[in-house]
Amino acid sequence: MPANTMNAYLREQISHLKSQGLYKAERWIETPQSPEIVVQGRKVINFCANNYLGLANHPRIVAAAEEGLRRWGYGLSSVRFICGTQTIHKQLEQRIAQFFHKQDSLLYTSCFDANGGLFEPLLTEQDAVFSDELNHASIIDGIRLCKAQRFRYRHNDMDDLRNQLESARKYRFKMIFTDSVFSMDGDLANLPVICELADRYDAVVGIDDCHGTGHLGPTGRGAAEELGVLDRIDIITGTLGKTLGGASGGFTASSAEIVDWLRNRSRPYLFSNSVPPALVAAAIESFSLIDEAADLRAKLKANTAKMRHGLENAGFTIKPGPTPILPVMLGEAALATRMADALLERGIYVIGFSYPVVPQGQARIRLQVSAAHTDEQIDRAVAAFTEVGRELGVIR
Ligand SMILES: *Cc1c(COP(=O)(O)O)cnc(C)c1O
Repeated sequence: MPANTMNAYLREQISHLKSQGLYKAERWIETPQSPEIVVQGRKVINFCANNYLGLANHPRIVAAAEEGLRRWGYGLSSVRFICGTQTIHKQLEQRIAQFFHKQDSLLYTSCFDANGGLFEPLLTEQDAVFSDELNHASIIDGIRLCKAQRFRYRHNDMDDLRNQLESARKYRFKMIFTDSVFSMDGDLANLPVICELADRYDAVVGIDDCHGTGHLGPTGRGAAEELGVLDRIDIITGTLGKTLGGASGGFTASSAEIVDWLRNRSRPYLFSNSVPPALVAAAIESFSLIDEAADLRAKLKANTAKMRHGLENAGFTIKPGPTPILPVMLGEAALATRMADALLERGIYVIGFSYPVVPQGQARIRLQVSAAHTDEQIDRAVAAFTEVGRELGVIR
């Protein structure tokens, strides 16, 4: 078989990953997603889902999906522009546009696709794109697919961004694009300054709000609302697969012209199937839930503060930031893995992250707090971290 030489090469590469502790083994969950799940026979409290408001499997979302399945069917066997657009697709797109105060939006089957299909239709070799060095992989890949001149600025470094904008005056269109929430660090992009610079240098501003939509901002409009600049942001991409119920689907919200152009030119939109109706119906319901979720957003803030204070009082170092992402800094990759394993044995499900996902020597456990966690679950997590942290010499 011609593949044999490739297989042999890959076996070697995989054993190399394993020997470096970088091999990703999936853990199997035997229940629906929830704050408490069963992982390989063990009941554990889950602190690693993007289920910030606890809406994954919310009864109203499940009921809306069931109703969507019954009313609109399982699937369309078509891309959107041939025979894959139902009235609910249009309804959801209008809902998303209105939610973010934009003129229109379009759906993708994921935010990875939304980012993958954003830059190439809008930017040519006459244009320039400015991207934070810690941007999500899907943004990096999307930018690679376009012919614009690429400028990568140091993470949230506004002097660096200004210098680069200054050096790029000759380009026709300039677009600054950034994660609004950086998911490994839990910090926010400095959107107020980015918007000021964009005004000064006549640049378009786009954000990926995957880790912000639904739970950040007074009404859940995400990181841009949290920072008071929602109406200045020109393009917002996001996911239906995190706070908004946790299934899948992505979107781009922007001006009528940008959205219309993407419908005509964005390749993942044109050449991939439309989002299944059950998910569309459920997403419409999830946006209604977000509008009613002020209490859940308050609970998420309280839970996050409780977890942060508990761990900091125990002596752990947690990166600062206003989001429910709490990076417990450990340093060594092996330590992060060992600590996550020991926590799992005590019924706390967390994941250690190390290079190349985060910089060398900055391995960490990333905790993600949910509004659905109880006080007792947070207390149990702090107690388990304290025990394991002492055992492994992370704290005294
Ligand atoms: C999760 C995530 C994505 C991918 O979203 P999907 O809808 O799962 O494809 C893209 N960007 C960021 C910043 C994310 O956190």
